[in-house]
Amino acid sequence: MFTFSLPAKIISGENCIAEHSKELSTLGKKAFIVTGKNSAKINGSLRDIEKALEQEHIPYLLFDQVTSNPTIDLARKAAQIARDQHIDFIIGIGGGSPLDCAKAIAVLATNEVDDHQLFSGPYSQPFLPVAAVPTTAGTGSEVTQYSILSNKHLETKTSIANPGIFPKVAFLDARYTLKLPNHVTIHTAVDALSHAMEGYLSVQATDFSNIFAEKSLALLGECLPLLNEEPTLAIREKLLHASMLAGIVIAHTGTTAVHSIGYSLTYFRDIDHGRANGLLLAEYLHFLNGAYSNKIQAILRTLQLKTIKEFSSLMDQLLGEKEEIALSEITRYSNKAAQAANIQNTLIRPTEQDIANMLKHSLTFIS
Ligand code: NAP
Ligand code: ZN
Repeated sequence: MFTFSLPAKIISGENCIAEHSKELSTLGKKAFIVTGKNSAKINGSLRDIEKALEQEHIPYLLFDQVTSNPTIDLARKAAQIARDQHIDFIIGIGGGSPLDCAKAIAVLATNEVDDHQLFSGPYSQPFLPVAAVPTTAGTGSEVTQYSILSNKHLETKTSIANPGIFPKVAFLDARYTLKLPNHVTIHTAVDALSHAMEGYLSVQATDFSNIFAEKSLALLGECLPLLNEEPTLAIREKLLHASMLAGIVIAHTGTTAVHSIGYSLTYFRDIDHGRANGLLLAEYLHFLNGAYSNKIQAILRTLQLKTIKEFSSLMDQLLGEKEEIALSEITRYSNKAAQAANIQNTLIRPTEQDIANMLKHSLTFIS
């Protein structure tokens, strides 16, 4: 038995915001636009949303303070403004950080919850509706029910996972991703890869979620080997679609051990989220290969690769020199990862020692 639900309306294509501005008027009467500090102003996405809102006579306010890996406090600060200004819907524009922050604001604008209850509920009030405009191609946050925030209490990244924060509408226009710096293109594409692979290898995978994972992997298999050069618009569009498809996958399967471990690399070492996952993927495949070689062969075939070694070389080509890691860090991160909620989705639940081994072999170990 399984359920499959895709609540976000996906509108994709060049100029899709202008052509579908009416979608915004179905969400509310006063908008809160949530972005990072710079990129949305430069890549055309903010201008297109502002024009669409003006076209629909919807007043709006801009919050452009979202930093990478946003914190609970930042979401609270923005939610207070949203409340004071009687905002009734949110538009997140950006990479996963502004999109996730937009979703957390949607929760906090209507609910008085402490930092623990923010993640676990219960929530007394419905959340504000959210529209999402991804400008990186990696997190798939525009089609997931997750908002991932840096959590100083637990010293890791923690997810709100609630169907109420699925964006109502996602606008996918690959033109916004044209000027992404090369390292962001690569790290975010590898995040999408990680979602598709982990989703395929999740205990919650179904034949239905695998359809989306396989299509995402096939697109990524075409694009990833080309990413050391500036991608064309056609490649950018494939990456954006691969990311969205992989988002649909994890919305159903959750992420697994790779994300559980990667959170520490981001929280403590400031390694980009997608990069953190990418560094770990080859060792993760080795870890599962004994018992699940048929699934891993299927993933490799779909990526147009033959062996885990070939996969590992592709990751090395994309990610370059690996960061150093010391034994004390390995011990600390393994302990954190073993307690993460999403590790339960892994086909073979790794022990702390298994996680320590993966970390030791994935980064440059310094004793
Ligand atoms: P990000 O932190 O949102 O953005 C990274 C950088 O890219 C920022 O400096 C940003 O600049 C810049 N940028 C964004 N779009 C750009 C564009 N079109 N052109 C040029 N620069 C651009 O990175 P991300 O990897 O997309 O998101 C990572 C976050 O998503 C993490 O917090 C992760 O935990 C979360 N995540 C969420 C889900 C989910 O399902 N909700 C899934 C995976 C990951 P500005 O700051 O100026 O915009
Ligand atoms: Zn991710």
